[in-house]
Amino acid sequence: MPGSYLIKPVLDGSYKEISHGNGIYLYDSEGKAYIDGSSGAVTCSIGHGCKEVIEAMNEQAGKISFVYRSQFTNQPAEELADKLAAMAPEDLNWSFFVNSGSEAVETAVKIALQYWQEKGQGRKTHIISRWMSYHGITIGALSLSGHTERRRRFFSHLESSPAVSPPYCYRCPYQLSHPSCGLKCAEELQTAVDRTGKEHVAAFIAEPVIGAAGGAISPPEGYYQRIKEICNENAILFIADEVMTGAGRTGKAFAMEHWQTVPDISILGKGLSAGYSPIASVIVSDDILCTIKKGSNLIMSGHTYSANPQSAAAALAVLKVIEKENLIQHAEKIGILLMKKLQNLKEEFSMIGDVRGKGLLLGIEFVANSEISAKPFPKDYNITSLITRLAQDLGLLLYPSSAGIDGREGDAVLLAPPLNITEVEVNKLVSILHQTLKKAEEMLTVMGRGGPQHG
Ligand code: PMP
Repeated sequence: MPGSYLIKPVLDGSYKEISHGNGIYLYDSEGKAYIDGSSGAVTCSIGHGCKEVIEAMNEQAGKISFVYRSQFTNQPAEELADKLAAMAPEDLNWSFFVNSGSEAVETAVKIALQYWQEKGQGRKTHIISRWMSYHGITIGALSLSGHTERRRRFFSHLESSPAVSPPYCYRCPYQLSHPSCGLKCAEELQTAVDRTGKEHVAAFIAEPVIGAAGGAISPPEGYYQRIKEICNENAILFIADEVMTGAGRTGKAFAMEHWQTVPDISILGKGLSAGYSPIASVIVSDDILCTIKKGSNLIMSGHTYSANPQSAAAALAVLKVIEKENLIQHAEKIGILLMKKLQNLKEEFSMIGDVRGKGLLLGIEFVANSEISAKPFPKDYNITSLITRLAQDLGLLLYPSSAGIDGREGDAVLLAPPLNITEVEVNKLVSILHQTLKKAEEMLTVMGRGGPQHG
């Protein structure tokens, strides 16, 4: 298809064109409606066509659409920074705006490396991350991401960062269970620091709830509290990558609040502007800002479009909608309801091994037969794509995720509808999901591959 801006439709011709959206619904150019059950990669957190945001963006475009950040600041960016400082815990008071989650991760890493030098602690060069993680698509962010064979196949030279086990209780890497495990997965950070030498480790980065690379894996109580202690004891900065979890998605403004833990750097993206215009924020503590100010007074972060007034106006309007409509509290409440319904589906369908997550960032992990074991479906069954395709045909969009240690084997989908989804809409979503699973079961049985009976 000449002129297509994507490679995939050229390869398989499968993409539909979306013509418009309204609330939790998207409509394709043939008029078919879909429930946006994953907010388009966990981004469009206040739904589509929100008038307040559109008006704020139009108004801003009428005033000024661009000023270059090295010469000027602008009113929406300043107001957004103030708002984020008020929302963020303790002394996370300073925002640097970039255009995407990947750029924000790069910026956070640069700040961490620079911070220790400005502190007079020499060149700390290593960042520790986790297996089963996704931090972005730029070379640096990708090298910290611990998932997918594809990355290994094409970019094996990026594998130099040390990585530790994820807090994946459903498939505990140590075959232990919480709480008697003594949080061995958290203790692994100390082992990795000892192996690398704490004088070399600048930061540890983690997604509070593992999103795309794990299907909403939410660590047990005490995990991040212990991680933060280890970071403090070894003079390591803790970077919370809240690109997917932040801005209310999990029923808290910042997901790290679930573990009463305050990181040194927090990153917001996706839900910050809910898809209306690209923006992400790296929020740092007073200590980090002061150290850099006293030192070089220079942060190596600044893209042409950083702190773009149009995007800042969109994000500001999104945060105001979230506040006005109490969407964080709503996400917590409706997330509990949706989780209960997923647990009911788990009782009914033996192809569901686990349901998990927080607030409205929920995941379903599929297994061959949960009545027998947690064994995943064989890889060539392509269960994740089967489920997402069937759901899409029935009018529900799910986010394909991976599961199993480091995504080598295992299937999961993310369920993360807009935060303003109503109870009636949740019922509709679950009813389509139910039909999807029924159809998948039928197909697996017809395929003669045992389907739910497969051991
Ligand atoms: N971090 C996390 C946790 C993410 O989920 C993503 C995107 N899926 C990114 C970083 C990268 O963000 P972006 O796609 O905006 O570059």
